[in-house]
Amino acid sequence: MKWLLILALFLFILSGQSMATESDSPAPPCFKIPSAEELGSDNTIAKYREQYSPKLYLTESDIWPLADAAMLAAVLLLGCVMVWRHIQTKWFWIPGLITLLYFGFIRGGCICPVGSVANVAIGLNHPEMIGKSTAIMFLLPLLVAFIMGRVFCVAGCPIGAIQHLLAGKRNVRLPATIERITRILPVIALISTAWLAVRGSCLLVCILDPYKTAFFFGYGWIHRLINVFQGGFVELRWFWVGDLTAWVILISAVLLGLRVYRPFCRFVCPYGVLLGLLSMVSLKRRRIDQNPCVQCGICEKNCPVNAIVRDPVTREFSISAYHCIQCNNCSSHCRKDGIR
Ligand code: SF4
Ligand code: SF4
Repeated sequence: MKWLLILALFLFILSGQSMATESDSPAPPCFKIPSAEELGSDNTIAKYREQYSPKLYLTESDIWPLADAAMLAAVLLLGCVMVWRHIQTKWFWIPGLITLLYFGFIRGGCICPVGSVANVAIGLNHPEMIGKSTAIMFLLPLLVAFIMGRVFCVAGCPIGAIQHLLAGKRNVRLPATIERITRILPVIALISTAWLAVRGSCLLVCILDPYKTAFFFGYGWIHRLINVFQGGFVELRWFWVGDLTAWVILISAVLLGLRVYRPFCRFVCPYGVLLGLLSMVSLKRRRIDQNPCVQCGICEKNCPVNAIVRDPVTREFSISAYHCIQCNNCSSHCRKDGIR
C-alpha cells in the first residue's frame, strides 16, 4: 500500500513538473511563489514573518547556514548516542529543548527539514534554487534515518520538540481503526506538498504547520531583544503581534497536543513519511528480542505513537520501523531488557 502511494507521489510530481512548464495559471492566495527569481529567496514567507518582526529588528549574518548545519549534526549525533545507549525517555527533553530554542526560536522555524520538502520539490523544476544549506537540512536527517531510524523526530525537529515538551502525562489512545485511517493523512500531505510546490504555487507544509506562529513570535522577540542590547528600542506596537487566525490555530494545536501525543507528527507531517520509509530499511532497526520477552505488553501500552503491534496468531509483539520515532519509551519500561 505504502509503495503504491509513493509511486503515486512520483507520478504526481512528474505530471506537476510538465504542467508547471506548460501552464501560467495564477497561484492560489497562500504562501505564493510568484516567479523563478523569487523561488529561492523565501520572499513570501519572509513577508509573512515580517508581521511578527520587521526587517528593522533583524540581525542577519552569513554564518547562519554553517551554524545551522553544525547544530543539526550536533543534535542528531546526541540523539543517536541516546537512542543507541537506550537512555531513558525523560532525558530527551535535552536535545528537544536545544532544538526548540535554536531551530524554533533563534532561527524562527524556517530553516527546517520538514519545510525543506517543499523547497526540494521546487528544486525539481529549478535545481539551481536549492541552496547547500537546504540540501543538507533535507538529506542529513534522512541519512541518519537510514542508519538508525527516525532519530531526527526525537532529537532534531523543532516541531517534534514543541509537541514533545507540551505533551501531557495522560494521552488519549485512539481506537485502532481511527489510528489506521489517519495514518494515510501524512502521505496525502506529502503528495499535496510536492504537487503544489512543483506547480510553483504554494508552500503547503508551511500552512499546515500550526506552530510557526510560536516560532515567528519567539524569533521576533529574540531579534528585538538583541536590538535593545545594541542600544536600540522596541516600539510598543510590536509588543504583541501576529495574525489572529494563526494564533487561534496555534492555541488549538497546543490544547490538542496536551491530550493527543504529537498530533502534527502522526497525522500531518510529510517529512515523517520519507523518514519512515528510510527507517524501514535502516541498518540498525529497533526490534523486540523474543527470547527474554514474556509478552506482557508493557512496551505496547507505553509506545506513544502506537508503533508496537501484536501478531494475532503468534501473539508476539513487533515494532513498526516506519512509525517508531526512537523515543526509547519502550526500552525504558521493559523489565526484561527485551528491546534491542
Ligand atoms: S514526524 Fe515530522 S514534525 Fe514530527 S518530529 Fe518527525 S519530522 Fe518533525
Ligand atoms: S517503539 Fe514506540 S516506544 Fe519504542 S522507541 Fe519506538 S516510538 Fe518509542
